[in-house]
Amino acid sequence: MDASLGKLGRLLRSAGFDTLCQHECRQGRFWDRIEPERVILTRTQAIQRRFSGRSLVFIKNNDPLRQLQQVVTEQGILKEDIHPFSRCIVCNAAIVKVDKRSVWGRVPAYVWHHYPAFNECRCCHRIFWAGSHHDRVCRKFETIFQNEERQSHA
Ligand SMILES: [Zn+2]
Repeated sequence: MDASLGKLGRLLRSAGFDTLCQHECRQGRFWDRIEPERVILTRTQAIQRRFSGRSLVFIKNNDPLRQLQQVVTEQGILKEDIHPFSRCIVCNAAIVKVDKRSVWGRVPAYVWHHYPAFNECRCCHRIFWAGSHHDRVCRKFETIFQNEERQSHA
C-alpha cells in the first residue's frame, strides 16, 4: 500500500492481513520488489497505471474505516477471513500466545491482573492483549460486515 494509507494498514494488520506499507520500506524501491500475489492498495494514479491488470484497489476515501469498507467490498473479504490480533500492527509479523507469567513486569500490573491471555510479537517483542483497543477494532469490523450484509440484501 501507498505511504498515505498507514492507518488502513494498521486496521488490516489488526484483522490479521499480511500488509506491507511503502513508508516502512527502508531499502527503497518498494514497488519494484512487490510480490506478484499481493493486492495493491493505492491512491496514486501512476501506481494504478503501473499495476493495471493486477489485483488492485484504488482507494477513494480519506477515512480509514471507509477505506477498509472499500477493500472488504472489492476484494470480497468475508468474516471468516478475519483473524483479529494474530499479527503485530507495527511490524506485520505473526504474534503468538505466550505464558502469562512471562509477561509480568512487561505490561502494567493492572493489565497483568485483569487479562487472562497475552500474545507477543516474535519480531519486536511487543505484548498484545484483548483490551479496549482490541474491542474497538472488533466493533469496527462488526460494523463493516453488517454494512456488507445490508448491501447484498438490497
Ligand atoms: Zn512487532
